[in-house]
Amino acid sequence: MRKPIIAGNWKMNKTHEEAVSFIEEIKGHVPSGNEVETVVCAPALFLKEMNDKAAGSDVHIGAQTMHFEESGAFTGEISPAALKDLGITYSIIGHSERREMFNETDESVNQKVHAAFSYGITPIMCCGESLEQRENNETEQVVRGQVAKGFEGISAEKASDVVVAYEPIWAIGTGKSSSAEDADETCGTVRKVLAELYDQDTAEKVRIQYGGSVKPENIDGYMEKEHIDGALVGGASLKPDAFLKLVEAGA
Ligand code: PGA
Repeated sequence: MRKPIIAGNWKMNKTHEEAVSFIEEIKGHVPSGNEVETVVCAPALFLKEMNDKAAGSDVHIGAQTMHFEESGAFTGEISPAALKDLGITYSIIGHSERREMFNETDESVNQKVHAAFSYGITPIMCCGESLEQRENNETEQVVRGQVAKGFEGISAEKASDVVVAYEPIWAIGTGKSSSAEDADETCGTVRKVLAELYDQDTAEKVRIQYGGSVKPENIDGYMEKEHIDGALVGGASLKPDAFLKLVEAGA
């Protein structure tokens, strides 16, 4: 019922030439958009040309972050209006690296989710606990808080279009992926919170990704789970062949 969504998060990697040739290499090989949604979230500098190259294919190009204001004195930031102008229709919002290193908060994440909808951008909203929080048995409480605040003021209709990425921080880039059971349990918590905030029907429509050391060798275990509808993938999304395997596993 929910269309799986596999998104690559390249972070601060690749040159312009590498970025464009990646799209050339994969675009003829991704499964049809009816089976799986394929998104590549790249550094902002490369988005336009990647989007041009992806035109007419089932590959969508996304940003890794954006500001919530349309324009103004925000040196170095990326405006949602500029993304829209380039035809970019996805953005990761509130990745844990942005929260940790660039002071993003649940509140700014919420402002960005609102802004994304104003500009026709599908937000891929991240949540997830730190190792310390997990060890203190605070995972559910942390994720509940992030989701409740992130969705504040978002209508049920829009909420069902948000993609939530559950990414335990301790699993990101560490090779220590969460077990599929644990990931599914927390993705189930996300869905439960959405049912409380909205209703069961809305909660059932929201796609929830798992992220954190996902690779071709372990993705099947996640995709089999009830509440996991895809993956947000960093390291393993950088090579075209590995990324294609992930997308195929999602289909
Ligand atoms: P990883 O990153 O797949 O390299 O763990 C995931 C992410 O940060 O989205």
